[in-house]
Amino acid sequence: MIKTVKTVDLKGKRVIMRVDFNVPMKDGVVQDDTRIVAAIPTIKYILAQGAKTLTLMSHLGDPAKDAEKAKTKAEKDGKSFNMSSYIKGKHRMAPVSAYLQKKLGKTATVVFAGEDGCYNKKAFIDGQKPGTVIMLENTRFHKEETAKDSKDLDKLAKALAEYGDIFVNDAFGTAHRDHASTASIAKFVPLSVAGFLMEKEVNYLEPIVTNPSKPLVAIIGGAKVSSKIAVLESLLKNASALVIGGAMAYTFLKAQGKKIGKSMVEEDQIATAKKILEAAKKAGAEIVLPLDHVGAEKFDAASKPVAVAAVNIPDRLIGMDVGPKTLAKYKQVISKAKTLVWNGPVGVFEFAAFAKGTEAVAKLAAAATARGTVTVVGGGDSVAAVNKFKLASKMSHVSTGGGASLELLEGRKLPGIEVTRGRDYFIAGNWKMHMTRAESANLAKALVKSLKSGKHRYLVAPSFTSLESVGEVIKGSNILLGAQNCAAEEQGAHTGEVSVLQLKDLGVQVIILGHSERRHSYKEDDALINKKLKLALKHGFEVILCIGETLEEREKGNVESVCKRQTEKGLAGVEAQDLSGITIAYEPVWAIGTGKTATPDDAQAVHKFVRGVIEKLYGPAVARLMVIQYGGSVKPDNAAQLMAMEDIDGALVGGASLKPDSFTPIAKFS
Ligand code: ADP
Ligand code: MG
Repeated sequence: MIKTVKTVDLKGKRVIMRVDFNVPMKDGVVQDDTRIVAAIPTIKYILAQGAKTLTLMSHLGDPAKDAEKAKTKAEKDGKSFNMSSYIKGKHRMAPVSAYLQKKLGKTATVVFAGEDGCYNKKAFIDGQKPGTVIMLENTRFHKEETAKDSKDLDKLAKALAEYGDIFVNDAFGTAHRDHASTASIAKFVPLSVAGFLMEKEVNYLEPIVTNPSKPLVAIIGGAKVSSKIAVLESLLKNASALVIGGAMAYTFLKAQGKKIGKSMVEEDQIATAKKILEAAKKAGAEIVLPLDHVGAEKFDAASKPVAVAAVNIPDRLIGMDVGPKTLAKYKQVISKAKTLVWNGPVGVFEFAAFAKGTEAVAKLAAAATARGTVTVVGGGDSVAAVNKFKLASKMSHVSTGGGASLELLEGRKLPGIEVTRGRDYFIAGNWKMHMTRAESANLAKALVKSLKSGKHRYLVAPSFTSLESVGEVIKGSNILLGAQNCAAEEQGAHTGEVSVLQLKDLGVQVIILGHSERRHSYKEDDALINKKLKLALKHGFEVILCIGETLEEREKGNVESVCKRQTEKGLAGVEAQDLSGITIAYEPVWAIGTGKTATPDDAQAVHKFVRGVIEKLYGPAVARLMVIQYGGSVKPDNAAQLMAMEDIDGALVGGASLKPDSFTPIAKFS
């Protein structure tokens, strides 16, 4: 879950907020204010809550790159070029600041912090009257903003962090960029949350990949297969039908051996197209390709549209749009959707003669919204098309971010969103060496039903022999499939071991490593556990890394040194960016199966200590997000109390996970 401005107390606070004010500019005049208007609800909310100051930062084009391009072009055209007036008219934030003042009217005073950049503005900001909005100069005047090296990024990020007690990111359009003002800053501000625009985008786009209302129908069009492969693959996981249109459809048709005339085609993507067709078949998703076309002899707005009534296109024609048979098919497919996502126009909609298909799709989507289908449009050109046909207000959601929305639909984690995420509770059941396949499947069935309305992340880890039967039962539910161990080698002669490849084949998503029973009864040491952990990460698994002290260690006063060692050695060689795939489970070994329990305060103290260890290794932002489960005899009657502790983010449940009656109340604690 992302955290929003609604979850924090803003009164008297200094807020630093990233907005996407990257609006088109001409000679210092704002050409389109959509992005400014989109940020206003969050701005007004923050001011209404009594924030002391609200400092806004944004990029506005890329001065260095854009100016260089414009200069080259001017030279080629034999025109004169004045660099500083070009930059002034295109990249300076002062006119945007003035525009915002006009939009906010009496709500607040907006002051521009000066053309000298984003550094050293603390005194200026702190000197403003309470309730003032401060607009910083274009962040991209500083090369650190987009630097590759984290040291450079951090230099600017630290300076910006000085201006706020709370960082608010409402710049969805740049959420996919790992820049100083979009992501790195969160490392240095105590609290980071999302604004309302970001929240709305994430709330509509993310469930399409993670948990859509089904049936999900996806319409993917546009220019290039290569730019849409990842989104096709990602949507295949949930879509019942994938409509492929636009120029990229011809690469698919060619892959099927159809004649495509002079249509646009990416020869080097034909193999990929075949692979996607194959994957769709396997996933049971219907692929809808054009059945007929509107062609043209030349790629030109003035070309005469020529109807092509069948799939095959004559040699002299270019496929420019889909035909009426195809649209009838679209209507039928879309009518079944509960969720409809559309990315990429199905024809050259910029040319009036070839815009009919795309307009028809927009109308079908609008009609679907009216029937209660959730309709989401993302992608720069598709959004432009929807606006052109004046149908934007008829969709459930029209994304404001092209690149960012595409990456979200690809199922990727976006840096600017990740920094606003709070920790999700994660409740896991470790079934150890219990139950037959049928018994395990029965338990899983009961849990699928009882946890359906649960709000947290869930996992069950049956014995190896039951992974298949349980996997089948929980498929498509909100319960993840976990294994209790894996071999330290990928494959080979290892009698009695189970490899990550075999676990992958069974659909396992998470592997529990270093459980106290593995450490103590089977003598697994830190090095072996670390080797397994790295292997699991390499193969895309999430890992629950168990740590914890024995009674003897506790009595000797070694709780912290043991937990520190196991954490550090367990994570040796793991990069910060891979840590989102790791959960730590703290098990006070002395409290397992002995009936003894640590008090919630005892447990909290160790959790807090472990988070501190992570902070030393990876910094505060990573540490804040690390999910740390508690694994010491969690029961229905102590679950809520434990989960209420600040650093306890879930539970690894043993004995109590074997019955729906005990696991369900733990999993749905309130
Ligand atoms: P989006 O920005 O919505 O993700 P893309 O950038 O992938 O979409 O593609 C949009 C472009 O695809 C448009 O400029 C459109 O003219 C072009 N296009 C659509 N159909 C065809 C076609 N049959 N031939 C050539 N170009 C096409
Ligand atoms: Mg585009």
